[in-house]
Amino acid sequence: MDDMINRYLEELREELCGCAGEIHDLAEPSGEEYHSAEVLCRLLEKYGFDVERGLPEQPTAFRASYGSEKPVIGFLCEYDALPGLHNGPGAAYNGNGGYGHGCGHNLLGVGSAAAGVALKKVIEDKGLKGSVVVYGTPAEETLEGKTIMLKHGAFRELDACIAWHPLDRNECGEVKYKAIASVEFSFHGKTAHACGSPPAGQKRLGRGGADERGMQLFKRAHGQGFLSPLLLSGRRLKTQYRPGFCQSLVLCEGL
Ligand SMILES: [Zn+2]
Repeated sequence: MDDMINRYLEELREELCGCAGEIHDLAEPSGEEYHSAEVLCRLLEKYGFDVERGLPEQPTAFRASYGSEKPVIGFLCEYDALPGLHNGPGAAYNGNGGYGHGCGHNLLGVGSAAAGVALKKVIEDKGLKGSVVVYGTPAEETLEGKTIMLKHGAFRELDACIAWHPLDRNECGEVKYKAIASVEFSFHGKTAHACGSPPAGQKRLGRGGADERGMQLFKRAHGQGFLSPLLLSGRRLKTQYRPGFCQSLVLCEGL
């Protein structure tokens, strides 16, 4: 059966590489992967999957299915890019904030979709029982896509689910990860010009201030020893004025 799958995927090589290249060049941010998702939806549709574009709360998620019999085998596609990694030559270090595919979600998305297409072919050709569901899971880099899908009941239909990630070696293994929690804090105050009238601002917090205050609040709620901070990020701030509103996203990993 391995030979059959390899031969089949070899036939599709050019098309699959084309899709991976297209998603690489699109390099869309988490939650805004409209075109990248469409590349995969079209591929899956072409090979006989019923595609549902957009899932609750996430317009760039999708569900592509084939068959109705048990067991139901799932594959997960990711396709979002990372900020500051610009795909252009030499641009990775210029700090221009452009998006790029650093860890290869363009390959991940196409690889998982291709695995689904190949399994469908095997089920058909060998007359096996079973169905395939390929999920488009957006916003992986911001750690929220699959959580939102889970909340709305995705994945429950599956008997088994397979995912992969590009790496510097080829291996299968059981990978364990720490639990993660995230809390978003919003600070409301009064906007003031940063140079002209800074004292007019109320409860003003800059990027660092929002993160620091967010961490204080998180530790007060959860205790010091329970979770350790993983990443802090003051968001949506501009520097030329004291913002009347800012947010901090606190991500914490389990100890
Ligand atoms: Zn990744």
